[in-house]
Amino acid sequence: MRYSGFRVIKEALTGHEGWTPAWRDPEPKAQYDIVVIGGGGHGLATAHYLAKVYGQRKVAVIEKGWIGGGNVGRNTTIIRSNYLLDGNEPFYEFSLKLWEGLEQDVNYNAMVSQRGIINLIHSDAQRDAFTRRGNAMILNGADAELLDADQVRKEYPYLNFNDARFPIKGGLAQRRGGTVRHDAVAWGYARSADSHGVDIIQNCEVTGFRIENGKCLGVETSKGFIGAGKVGCAVAGNSGRVMGMAGMRLPIESHVLQAFVSEGLKPLLPGVITFGAGHFYVSQSDKGGLVFGGDLDGYNSYAQRGNLPVVEDVCEGGMALMPMIGRARLLRMWGGIMDMSMDGSPIIDRTPVEGLYFNGGWCYGGFKATPASGYCFAHLLARDEPHPTATAYRFDRFRTGRMIDEKGVGNQPNLH
Ligand SMILES: Cc1cc2nc3c(=O)[nH]c(=O)nc-3n(C[C@H](O)[C@H](O)[C@H](O)COP(=O)(O)OP(=O)(O)OC[C@H]3O[C@@H](n4cnc5c(N)ncnc54)[C@H](O)[C@@H]3O)c2cc1C
Repeated sequence: MRYSGFRVIKEALTGHEGWTPAWRDPEPKAQYDIVVIGGGGHGLATAHYLAKVYGQRKVAVIEKGWIGGGNVGRNTTIIRSNYLLDGNEPFYEFSLKLWEGLEQDVNYNAMVSQRGIINLIHSDAQRDAFTRRGNAMILNGADAELLDADQVRKEYPYLNFNDARFPIKGGLAQRRGGTVRHDAVAWGYARSADSHGVDIIQNCEVTGFRIENGKCLGVETSKGFIGAGKVGCAVAGNSGRVMGMAGMRLPIESHVLQAFVSEGLKPLLPGVITFGAGHFYVSQSDKGGLVFGGDLDGYNSYAQRGNLPVVEDVCEGGMALMPMIGRARLLRMWGGIMDMSMDGSPIIDRTPVEGLYFNGGWCYGGFKATPASGYCFAHLLARDEPHPTATAYRFDRFRTGRMIDEKGVGNQPNLH
């Protein structure tokens, strides 16, 4: 079924009886050409591009819970491509371009909102660094704009410009950045993948790999063995645990990151603001809630929940940037498990086991990467070669020392 304005009107006039389920609920088949583990944004995007772009017909996504129950439905919804380094900037710009056409591609309203993002500048040295980053973005075909304090003030008059410790001296703006409704991304990719024949199997946990003579033959699951010509792992915060079942120890640590939403307020923030000095980032949802986050909880964990000291820490960051939010009530908060790589950049690569492929290490910047990650992982799975924009995301960079120490990604476990 195609979704459209006409369809909505027709259903409204006929009692909404014509809607069909957005995706099937199939039992797993005995054998697939490609099995993708993880029904998060990256796994579902991979399945969509495998089926739609690379013509793969026998594909399954195996999800231990329900699709969208992981980080894809837990993040603070920010998309941008304001990275510095060669390995990253073209990849994230590719992702932003895919976001721009996503809703038409999957025929689903994901509320892609290019409301713009501004990274605040607090010192002359930071202005130099952001000027360099903006130039790198422009050289890679992205948009970037350097703003002085008055220009920022015009758009965001409520910020604390004259704070003695972190005065706001300007910002690096990317107007094409913004927000996307996070769980709609999972649903849109799932619906599209399903319509191209992909089996999305929920409530099915991968409990092991069947590996014989160095080749992966499929996955053991809570619903029995599922055979596969190739297996792609995209389980984000559970990467260490799942790849451990294949005997691999990854250069990744799992950490908790929390997100917060305030009660609904009148329109206050037109776009996304990141306040690096206080480690706080914020946007305002269409319902009026301030959606914000800050630092990691700071210890390794596979528990999908956060703890109180970081609530206080993040709210302090918010108060330093916008003192009036101390008057707003915190409505809800939650945690997600981040797969933090040691240089802050991701991995999309083959593994030493034939037929087993890995996608992970997204730190806390993986939502914006969802379309490009899915596209590049699908390319790798279908063609057995890296996509041209993801050639840097190899495991062997940790052995050869060719790290991609990106400062645009947020924090890294090795810097804590
Ligand atoms: C609080 C928070 C805020 C964030 N904010 C942003 C942001 O503003 N911008 C941004 O770009 N990124 C952000 N991120 C990061 C982003 O959400 C993640 O990097 C990204 O969503 C991870 O990829 P995913 O969607 O595939 O993960 P997930 O949705 O977590 O998908 C992985 C799936 O694998 C499944 N799985 C795990 N183990 C198994 C198994 N054994 N068998 C079967 N299935 C399994 C899980 O159940 C899960 O559904 C944020 C993350 C958090 C937690």
